[in-house]
Amino acid sequence: MSGSQIYDTSNSSLNIAAGNHIHPNEIFNNLPVAIYTCDCSGYITWYNKAAANLWGREPKIGSEQWCGSWKIFKSNGDELPLDNCPMAITLREGRPVEGEEVIVERPDGRKIYVKPHPVPIFDSEGTLKGAANTLIDITESRIAEEKSAKFVAIVESSQDAIISKSLDGIIRSWNFAAEQLFGYSESEAIGKHITMLIPANRIIEEHLILGKIRNGDKVEHYETLRLRKDGLEIPVSLTISPIKDKKGNITGASKIVRDISQQKEAEIKLKQYADNLEILNSVGKVVSESLDIKQILQKTTDATTRLSGASFGAFFCNKADENGESLILYTLSGAEKESFEKFGMPRNAAVFHPTFSGQGILRSDDITTDKRYSHNSPHQDIPEEHMPVKSFLSVPVISKTGNIIGVLFFGHPEAGKFNKEHEDLVQSVASQAGVALDNAKLYEEIKILNSKKDEFIGLASHELKTPLTSITAYLQVLRRALTDEHSKDFVSKTLSQVNKLSALVSDLLDVSKIEAGKLQLTCEPFDISTLLNDTIDIMSLSNPEHKITLNTAVNHLTVRGDTQRIEQVLINLFTNAIKYAPSAYAIDVSLEQENNHVRIGVKDNGIGLQKDQLEQIFSRFYRVDGLSPHMSGLGIGLYISREIIERHNGQIWVESDYGKGSTFWFTIPLSGFSKDR
Ligand code: ADP
Repeated sequence: MSGSQIYDTSNSSLNIAAGNHIHPNEIFNNLPVAIYTCDCSGYITWYNKAAANLWGREPKIGSEQWCGSWKIFKSNGDELPLDNCPMAITLREGRPVEGEEVIVERPDGRKIYVKPHPVPIFDSEGTLKGAANTLIDITESRIAEEKSAKFVAIVESSQDAIISKSLDGIIRSWNFAAEQLFGYSESEAIGKHITMLIPANRIIEEHLILGKIRNGDKVEHYETLRLRKDGLEIPVSLTISPIKDKKGNITGASKIVRDISQQKEAEIKLKQYADNLEILNSVGKVVSESLDIKQILQKTTDATTRLSGASFGAFFCNKADENGESLILYTLSGAEKESFEKFGMPRNAAVFHPTFSGQGILRSDDITTDKRYSHNSPHQDIPEEHMPVKSFLSVPVISKTGNIIGVLFFGHPEAGKFNKEHEDLVQSVASQAGVALDNAKLYEEIKILNSKKDEFIGLASHELKTPLTSITAYLQVLRRALTDEHSKDFVSKTLSQVNKLSALVSDLLDVSKIEAGKLQLTCEPFDISTLLNDTIDIMSLSNPEHKITLNTAVNHLTVRGDTQRIEQVLINLFTNAIKYAPSAYAIDVSLEQENNHVRIGVKDNGIGLQKDQLEQIFSRFYRVDGLSPHMSGLGIGLYISREIIERHNGQIWVESDYGKGSTFWFTIPLSGFSKDR
């Protein structure tokens, strides 16, 4: 301990000069500000409680120098040797040190930011006796500063625009991202009203948002549109939170504005993609299933117009009339027929001709600038009444054989509307349409041939019917006139063959009537059980080797229908049961009443049918493959039977065990339940 000690720790008194004792009062000791003193050699002579707290330790009076802290650092973090601390400088140089900032490290590791104010103490002769140091703890404000610097850095580096505004809507802060997003610099934005960023038709939103903020509520991820400096509206997502002062009063609002244009674009693209897929799907379905040329043309035109985003689309078929001129077939989408009436002949127009003549797709951002465009005056290539066209796309529809079936045209009044993607989409539908139109054309040709065949069958059977009727009549007269039994027998056999021929011709005539929708029914109430018994009698008489048995509990059952036609069905079923069961002679017939209809079954023990034939045998001219030559027929009996039964509102079907036999069933409504057709 130095001899020039000025502080007596035992009585906590400050000794300025010999004989002049100033006793530190309790105020110094309990001051909230850290104070300590050193003698002129730097030895600590006194410190108060606040100083000990700040250092986190109690230095030894008279033996520790310069500072009560065991380690101090400069404000930049470098270690500061104790003999170079502000107190040491003051003592060395005899002057106060102002404005330095040091960091004190306490034994517990905590760092405290301190502003020291060491002042030299001189005696009355001006001799340096020591120094007193006041240590101001600035840790809190330092941390706050650091926090706010970090906050500013975060705000500035944020990708989202961060704006704060007062409660009356005046912009108070504006970060770099806000500048980028809205195009206003910080100086242009601060002090302005927030409504400069809101489209006129959305100003109301600001009132609603402010209302919420005043209530202390937060508005999260609110999607809307905001206005850039250049007048462009951009989709944004807003998160708005109230700003409160220390007392908790709401003084303004902070807004985080995220530009969601890309997200919106992606959403639109995704939706467009999904829509396109749906269109492609639906057009694919129609085009692959339909054989109707008009329907294919219309669906193709509608779908491709939507896929291309055109304001109108047209499909012109490359179909010339006898003179090789005008187009007969075209469909439109998004345009009225009248607007195309004066369209003339696209194939001859300079602009349209290339696609018709096989030069492929033509896509133009502005067709009016195309050299070929003004060739067809006075209307150029687009009629006067027609909507103006700038964007233009024409895609050929080509058949499997490479012929150009037609051309799809698309137009839009604005320039640059069609791109390669549109072109590809249209082309993919066009190639599907090409195949479908080929098929539809073939189908049309088949239909024409088929109706010609039906027409021929109708005519031929009609022509055959008349002479057959005469032959039958003459043969009957001849049989009666003949006395010789041998000759009579010949005529009878001839008559029987002519009857068979007549029945065939009648069936053919029925087929052509069915096809023409002209099969007439004469309906009246009759007893079905009597008809069934009579028919069994006739069949048994002409087929004596067969045993036809009727199993029924029913005596009389009245149905309403065409007796002759129902008899025709029964005869057909019996004939088949006999014909297709060459070595089984039992035929079991059943008649039952079931609810409000009657059900008749004809069961044979013949060749039977395979599963896949059960339905087919009712179609026209269908006969099972590989039948024996004795089982001749035309494959129309069951077709006619089904038509007759269905016209009676009944049903006909077959159950079969292949190789063992079949049962044919049909139902017809009872008299009170039948509906005349
Ligand atoms: P068709 O007997 O003149 O050929 P149908 O229309 O009456 O004409 O019958 C169509 C086909 O159904 C027959 O060719 C035959 O192959 C099959 N068929 C009809 N009835 C029977 C039956 N009872 N058993 C087995 N096959 C039958």
